[in-house]
Amino acid sequence: MISSMLPAAKSVLVVCAHPDDESFGLGGVLSALVDHGADATVLCFTRGEASTLHATLRDLAMVRAEELARAAKVLGVLRSELLDYADGHLAEQPLAELTAHVRRIAEEMDTDLILAFDEGGITGHRDHVQATHAAVAAATSCGVPVLAWAILDEVADALNSEFDAGFVGRSESELGFRIPVDRTLQSAAIKCHLSQSGSNPVLRRRLELTGGFEYLRWLTPPSTS
Ligand SMILES: [Zn+2]
Repeated sequence: MISSMLPAAKSVLVVCAHPDDESFGLGGVLSALVDHGADATVLCFTRGEASTLHATLRDLAMVRAEELARAAKVLGVLRSELLDYADGHLAEQPLAELTAHVRRIAEEMDTDLILAFDEGGITGHRDHVQATHAAVAAATSCGVPVLAWAILDEVADALNSEFDAGFVGRSESELGFRIPVDRTLQSAAIKCHLSQSGSNPVLRRRLELTGGFEYLRWLTPPSTS
């Protein structure tokens, strides 16, 4: 049975690969959690300097760091920590090292819920997959549940056929939650990432296909003990 109730959290830690993942991907769910009273922290592993959008900007890494700071403020995030692993090469980084960053921040922020991309990385990006691996590995050692944002197979299939993309979806039977989301703050946060959102038809189409709901599943469920 799929739930329409957002899991409770006092302190949520978003673990993602690129500045904009917290807004483009997780922004709807994150603003719902904040609206329900959670404190929010973002850990982002790369500065997104390898993006093909606005790749000619003189210092895309710096621009994107500023965009993340602005978007985080809009989403009500208390703390965002941006690391500088090489964009596009996160999967080559030692998982134990990435995991240690997640664990450190989770301990500092007394995190009781980690929010990450689904295991397929949503867009299929290997950086996304590795960020989620780090979230799950950290959660296993510090006993914090990991909730994944997922998209439906129908949404992935439509995007893949329209844009020749590599989105990875799920059937509804694999999902635990279907949550109504207000996209007001997410939309404002997306606008903060102007270098990536100014001309991004894939993002617009995904949001249109997803509509007013987001799907979630446990990667590491809460312990019942
Ligand atoms: Zn990304």
